[in-house]
Amino acid sequence: MAGLALAGCPGGREEPLEPPHGLVLIGLDTLRADGLSAYGNPRPTSPVLDALAERGVLFENAISNASWTLPGFVGILTGRPFSRESFRNRGLRGSLVKPLREAGYATAAFTEGGYVSSFFGMDQGFDVFEEDNYHVRKQAAVPESESLETFARAREWLEANASEPFFLFVHTYEPHTPYRRRRFVDGLDPGVLGEVYDLKTNVRVVDGRLAVGEAEREYVRALYDGGVEASDRAVGELLETLESLGIADRTVVAVTSDHGEALGERDPQELGKHGHALYDSVLHVPLILHDPRRRYPVQRVGFQVRTLDVLPTLLDLAGVAPPADVEGRSLVPLMRGSEREDRVAYSELMFRGRKKQDALVERSSLRVEGFKLIANDPSVDGPALELYELANDPDELVNLADERPRLRSRLYFQLLEQRSAIDDHGRPPVATEVRQPALREQLRALGYIRGDEP
Ligand SMILES: [Zn+2]
Repeated sequence: MAGLALAGCPGGREEPLEPPHGLVLIGLDTLRADGLSAYGNPRPTSPVLDALAERGVLFENAISNASWTLPGFVGILTGRPFSRESFRNRGLRGSLVKPLREAGYATAAFTEGGYVSSFFGMDQGFDVFEEDNYHVRKQAAVPESESLETFARAREWLEANASEPFFLFVHTYEPHTPYRRRRFVDGLDPGVLGEVYDLKTNVRVVDGRLAVGEAEREYVRALYDGGVEASDRAVGELLETLESLGIADRTVVAVTSDHGEALGERDPQELGKHGHALYDSVLHVPLILHDPRRRYPVQRVGFQVRTLDVLPTLLDLAGVAPPADVEGRSLVPLMRGSEREDRVAYSELMFRGRKKQDALVERSSLRVEGFKLIANDPSVDGPALELYELANDPDELVNLADERPRLRSRLYFQLLEQRSAIDDHGRPPVATEVRQPALREQLRALGYIRGDEP
């Protein structure tokens, strides 16, 4: 096992702590920050996660490095932006799961496949990596009361293995389209939509073949919130398992997402869509961390952090040193209150194209000093540069790029420095290159491969 970890206490003295017995990382795919009540959702979507945040630390401004699943989870699991990770032979060069395994933690992952699969290298560092096509099967009607099978398998694994130190990663597409959870739709008008928002309808709306308005937007938001609530219940069952095994007081739990979701705020067509833009609807995600060993002085962190920082934080809490070239940094100093500033958040939308020759980087963004600068490749929609002042314009509607040329130039230079690190790391695989029938079916069920593609 790793040596004793150090964590701060209010007086600034360092007090050694036993390393945690367990580390749990929960990835709730496609969960925007305001999906949770703790982040301002007026619906009671997240009693479990709200209570976890009360006991632990909530990061109000956690930003993903990407707006779709593959680069989002690469960022989380490696602590590096997607473009800086190596994809030769599809393995992730720098998975931060490996140092945990080397430190003596048994490592296990239960995912719902698609991009979070061994094909894309996500299994690096895991002793046990189970991916399931639950998302394909869930297309059929599922009773509201059914808890997620993926969490059930993770709980079974815990029951059999939790006597040894462990790192457990659980991933679910529950909040992702299709939205089928009707918990919050009573009294709402579905308009031209059906009872649930299935993939076929989603594609027709996004393509502009089915026009929707405010009623449909509200209805779809309620369905989305129902998926969040179902995820919250599944997390609750996992936490209960930790309690019943008697290890909850020695197990660190972190909950986050790979990206958010556009729900028609900017454009009614963008109703259940991500991986197209770098606005906050798709980049701002929840991040909640509970370390039962200690109550940290700062319980709500307002400073900006990145999903790249999640695994380095878990390594720090376990007393495990991260490799030198990791971009993400431990969040413990922010929880202690010894670090008091925003971290620069670079995000990128790359290689979303369906053909190999499409631009490698389509959009990139820098969220810094209260501003967001977005640089768009000429091959994609939108002005070349967008500049938003986030405090006054949280919906990013007023482009200040022409009004603030000096600020624009300075931030653009910073952004280019980030982008220049993209080199010959090897192009990541794209969905259309996947030949395995089962995996193709999973990606199709998630909308990443269209029906008309080979
Ligand atoms: Zn995702």
